[in-house]
Amino acid sequence: MKVVVLTGAGISAESGVPTFRDADGLWEGHRVEDVATPEAFLADPETVHRFYDARRAALTKVLPNAAHHALAELERLIGDHLTLVTQNIDDLHERAGSERVIHMHGELRSALCLRCGRRTRWEGSLLDAPPCAGCGKGVLRPDVVWFGEVPYAMEAIGDALAECDLFVSVGTSGAVYPAASFVQQARAYGARTLELNLVPSVGTHFFHEARHGRAGDLVPAWVSRLIGQ
Ligand code: NAD
Repeated sequence: MKVVVLTGAGISAESGVPTFRDADGLWEGHRVEDVATPEAFLADPETVHRFYDARRAALTKVLPNAAHHALAELERLIGDHLTLVTQNIDDLHERAGSERVIHMHGELRSALCLRCGRRTRWEGSLLDAPPCAGCGKGVLRPDVVWFGEVPYAMEAIGDALAECDLFVSVGTSGAVYPAASFVQQARAYGARTLELNLVPSVGTHFFHEARHGRAGDLVPAWVSRLIGQ
């Protein structure tokens, strides 16, 4: 059986990484337009760098939770029959042991050269960063997909959605496109669809089945049942 799992900010909430839409529509006190758009970066790169520098630094204080570990275990068991797509820019899936994660919205621990497009592993601050090591000239920006930009790996994701037997969405509000439309795509190709989220998502009615609760409880229980334990 081929499975596609889409994860969102909710899967990392129990690790202590704040979600985006739960509290007040602000992301760590910022309006999305001010920190997560190309226009914001052009207008005020310093504020945008400080925001992502703080998110990157905060990764050192959090650990993967039971939901990340359960998905890593599923990958160990079914290998490339699992396609794990995350909207998250944290690295908690990898730190739980997942080896083939598609980061459709990019990664905090990566920098992108505005000139040559090279992606470089990045742990520290991007404020006053040296020029790109690849072309020697380009300015580096956070390697995250901002609102209005095209997500990474859309072709590979589309292929996986077309081929899967089961599509599972975990911890996502269903408000950010194109990820919010994956359930309809998978369903159109004949997959069964399951939502695992704290509360019903915006698109909960698109799923064959929805279970509501904490990812740290729901995901390990779902994986155990799937692998027959
Ligand atoms: P979102 O914040 O819009 O929605 C999160 C969803 O998770 C909500 O529906 C909420 O009810 C649910 N949730 C909260 N706690 C949960 C828990 N313990 N168990 C299960 N579900 C829980 O997140 P989104 O849909 O991923 O969209 C936000 C965008 O912001 C994404 O594009 C993402 O790149 C970015 N973002 C990323 C991170 C991260 O990398 N961890 C954090 C915040 C925002």
